[in-house]
Amino acid sequence: MNITAQNIRRSFGAHEILKGVDISSRPGEFVGLIGPNGSGKSTLLKCIYRILKPDAGQIFLDQCDLSRLTVRESARKMGVVAQHNQYNFDFTVKDIVLMGRAPHKKPLDRDNAADYAIVRKSLEKTGMSAFADRSFSTLSGGEQQRVILARALAQQTPCLILDEPTNHLDITHQIQLMKIVKELKLSVIAAIHDLNIAAMFCDRIYGIKGGKIVGEGTPENLLTPEFIREVYGVETEIVHDRHGQMHILFTGL
Ligand code: ADP
Ligand code: MG
Repeated sequence: MNITAQNIRRSFGAHEILKGVDISSRPGEFVGLIGPNGSGKSTLLKCIYRILKPDAGQIFLDQCDLSRLTVRESARKMGVVAQHNQYNFDFTVKDIVLMGRAPHKKPLDRDNAADYAIVRKSLEKTGMSAFADRSFSTLSGGEQQRVILARALAQQTPCLILDEPTNHLDITHQIQLMKIVKELKLSVIAAIHDLNIAAMFCDRIYGIKGGKIVGEGTPENLLTPEFIREVYGVETEIVHDRHGQMHILFTGL
């Protein structure tokens, strides 16, 4: 499924935070969004996953204008792993993952064996099976994040929006989460804090600064020392490992 956001504008009070942003993800494409703190990444993603209403611009899932869908309809097409905040809900892990099935059900539908099987699979995939009966609020930040991913997997959507999903995760689980998402081959738009993680997993990356897209391309094409200096004001050197994977080294201390 194509995700297309066109000319998105959004202000808070007198401050224009998004100044006409275009971003898209094609079917099966893993798209990254990078940029400094406060550049508008979360605001843009919130407009896409309908927590915020843009002041101007449109968002399409394929040809379908998102604002014409019910929240329930869009939840069948788009899953979300939001930036981690302290979640306060006191449900068990498996109940939270089961919530991912809700958009697929009619109001009085019972959860059935197929739903439970999907929940079980989603927990397995994220390595959280052993936590199924635990109270969500007793989990660490990283464990909670993996449960929220499991819920998004249980939702079985063609699109996935991720806002810094690997914050709070150790390197093992950062890579595990990114691999899980990558293997799903969904249309993904993910704000990613770590440039090396972005370079490893993204098919294409957008850079945003001051509410404007300042660059777009494959990791190799976009993430040059000049571009990183322009966006982040730091010096870097790009190297390639023996597998040909690029790595960004931060230099000039
Ligand atoms: P990022 O995710 O790139 O770090 P955000 O999109 O969260 O950036 O924030 C962009 C800017 O918008 C920041 O300056 C932030 O303070 C401001 N902002 C975000 N949400 C609100 C809000 N609800 N009210 C006022 N300002 C906000
Ligand atoms: Mg953010």
